[in-house]
Amino acid sequence: LAMYRAKEKGRDAYHVFSEALDAFDFEDHRMKQELKGAQHGSGLELYYQPQLDLRTGRVAGFEALLRWNRGSGPIRPEKFITLAEQNGAIVGLGEWAMREACRQIRAWNEKYGEKLRVSVNVSFEQLRKNDFVDKVRTILIESGLEGKQLELEMTESAAMRDEERTRKQLGELRRLGVRIGIDDFGTGYSAFAYMKRMSVDRLKIDKSFVEGLPHSAEDQAIVKAMLSMARELRLRTTAEGVERADQLRFLASIGCEEIQGYYYSEPLRREAAEQWLDRIRSEPNG
Ligand code: C2E
Ligand code: MG
Ligand code: MG
Ligand code: MG
Repeated sequence: LAMYRAKEKGRDAYHVFSEALDAFDFEDHRMKQELKGAQHGSGLELYYQPQLDLRTGRVAGFEALLRWNRGSGPIRPEKFITLAEQNGAIVGLGEWAMREACRQIRAWNEKYGEKLRVSVNVSFEQLRKNDFVDKVRTILIESGLEGKQLELEMTESAAMRDEERTRKQLGELRRLGVRIGIDDFGTGYSAFAYMKRMSVDRLKIDKSFVEGLPHSAEDQAIVKAMLSMARELRLRTTAEGVERADQLRFLASIGCEEIQGYYYSEPLRREAAEQWLDRIRSEPNG
C-alpha cells in the first residue's frame, strides 16, 4: 500500500507539473494565434508617450507603444511582442502600428500646425523582410507624413544582425528621409562607430543608466561619455526613463537633447494624448 501511495503521489506530482507546463504552453500558443490576425479590435491599442526637447522646452514628438488588453487583462508588451516575434505575427502587427501612428501624428500636425515626430519600434523580424522599405514608403504616402517626421527605433542587436542587409535597408530608409534611432543604447555592444556607419541618427540612452542620476558617479560617467561620443559623431540623443526633476536637470546640464519618461508624461491613450496637446498649448512656453 505504501508503495502504491508513493507511486500515486509521484504520478500526481508529475501530472500537476506536466499539466502546468501544458497549460503554460497552451496559453502562449493561444496568444500567438490571437496575435496573428489581431490588428483590428482584439484589444490592441497604440499609446503615445511625449518626448521633451530640452533645448526648446517644447514637445518634440511621441513614441508609439503597443498595448494589449486581452479579455483576461493587460499583457505586458515585452511578453506579447516576444510571442509575436516568435511566430511572425509582429510583421502584420508592426505594420498596423506604423500606419496607425503615422496617420495619427499627421492628423495632430494638421490640427495643431506642428511638425511633431513619431517614433515607432521595429523588430528585426520586420526589418529583415525584403518589402519592409516598400511598406514604409507606402505608409508615408498614404498618411501624408513627411519621412523626416518618422523615426524607427530598433535595438543595438537588431541593428547589428545581418549586417549587409541591414545596412542596405537603413540606407534606403534614410533616402526616404526616415530617421533611425537605437533603442536601449548601452545595453548591447555600444559600438558607436558602427552605428554611425549604419546611417543611425539617434541614440536612446537606456533607462538603466538614467535611474542612478544624478547621484551615482558611475552612471554620471557613463552617460557623459555617451553624450560626448554622440556629439563627436553627430548623433542625436534622447534619455529614456526620466522620472524625476533632478534627473532632468542633470541631463540638461550635460547637453542631452531630449528626454522621455514619467516625469514629463506617461504613455497616453490617443484621446488623452490629444487632451495633453490641448493643455500644453494653452500654457505659456507650451
Ligand atoms: P522601449 O521601446 O524601450 O519603450 C520604452 C519603455 O519604457 C516603454 O515600456 C515605456 O512605457 C517605458 N517607460 C517610459 N517612461 C518610463 C519611465 O519614466 N520609467 C520607466 N521605468 N519606464 C518608462 P513598454 O510600453 O512596456 O514597452 C516595452 C517594450 O516593448 C518597448 O521598449 C519596445 O521594445 C517594445 N514595444 C512596444 N511597442 C512596440 C511595437 O509597436 N513594436 C515593437 N516591435 N516593439 C514594441
Ligand atoms: Mg522604443
Ligand atoms: Mg528603450
Ligand atoms: Mg526596449
